[in-house]
Amino acid sequence: MVDLKERLSAAAVEQGFVLVGFASLRPLDRGRFFSDWLAGGRHGEMSYLALEPQRRLDPRFLDPRLRSVISLGYPYQAPPRPSRVSWREELRGRVAAYALGEDYHRYVLAKARRVGEVLNALRPRALTRAYVDTGPVFEREWALKASIGWIGKNTNLLNRRYGSYFFLAEIFTDVDFGADSPPYGAHCGRCRQCLELCPTGALEGSYVMDARLCISYLTIELRGPIPLPLRTKLGNWIFGCDICQEVCPWNSEAQSQPDERLTPYLPELLALDQAQFSKRFSRSAIKRAKRRGLLRNAAVALGNSGNPRAVAPLAACLEREPEPLVRAHAAWALGHLGGGVSRRTLERRRKSEPDPTVANEIALALARGSAPECEAV
Ligand code: SF4
Ligand code: SF4
Repeated sequence: MVDLKERLSAAAVEQGFVLVGFASLRPLDRGRFFSDWLAGGRHGEMSYLALEPQRRLDPRFLDPRLRSVISLGYPYQAPPRPSRVSWREELRGRVAAYALGEDYHRYVLAKARRVGEVLNALRPRALTRAYVDTGPVFEREWALKASIGWIGKNTNLLNRRYGSYFFLAEIFTDVDFGADSPPYGAHCGRCRQCLELCPTGALEGSYVMDARLCISYLTIELRGPIPLPLRTKLGNWIFGCDICQEVCPWNSEAQSQPDERLTPYLPELLALDQAQFSKRFSRSAIKRAKRRGLLRNAAVALGNSGNPRAVAPLAACLEREPEPLVRAHAAWALGHLGGGVSRRTLERRRKSEPDPTVANEIALALARGSAPECEAV
């Protein structure tokens, strides 16, 4: 069995995985925690999380022949690296590092399946089912069981050598790999960096996240308007958020060069039509936000910039954008920026705006009279 594990580990490393662990399947003891978390509504609009709870807790619910899981960690293409330029000055958004390049669901899953094929070559009739965030699987819990890391206070899986900048993948199989490795052990200690620096207070201090407050949820999963009190807290994050990973001491060694794809120019994003959005993001994880979600986020970030040069693209958006959701957030952003040009744009649009939700945002924006002056240049 040791030899089988070694050969599978070597195959995983060959595919680029940096973490490999094995665990026998037992029902996870997270049922109570998970049902309480759901009952508290902390999953927001992600109703899919409530589906198939038994299968999440025990994959043998799907197939009773399964015996074990191989848990794998695949590094991000590049760890997060904020641009050196001031985003407010340059009107740059921020994209979470995991979304750099091709959609990880595609290529990491393909690599996990190749490891499964090696298992099939060594054990010809072995069952293998691979996942990369592609099914109802408690990925971090299985990684914990497979002793490749611990779950930190930021709710990510952490490894002492690799921090948290990696994707998790799993291969469930009917092969029995024998006794499990000793538990990994937690290494957060007294650190509270992630809890204290999360801009929205989404981390509750007891290894619990309220997804409804998390910028990743707000910018990717939430389909409707971003709640008003949270908009200023988004800063320039337009797809995901890396803050609670960036501030983690276990990620402090991570090195990468700044990549402009992680800091896109906001006025350009706000002007993308559907065809341009599809062309640019069809192979990227960013497509999950859909055009209307990404442009909504770009409008909020432009509003948060405090830069007078954000007024012109927002005004053009309010006049011409077909999606009411995006127009509504452009109206908010103009109100937040304030100034005469913003006000005149909002007043003009108020007379012709056909959508009641946008009209309401315009009225709210105009009512916000104390915003800082911000004349377009
Ligand atoms: S991803 Fe951002 S908003 Fe979400 S918990 Fe981490 S720091 Fe907070
Ligand atoms: S920032 Fe500190 S508390 Fe948060 S996950 Fe990292 S080590 Fe743990």
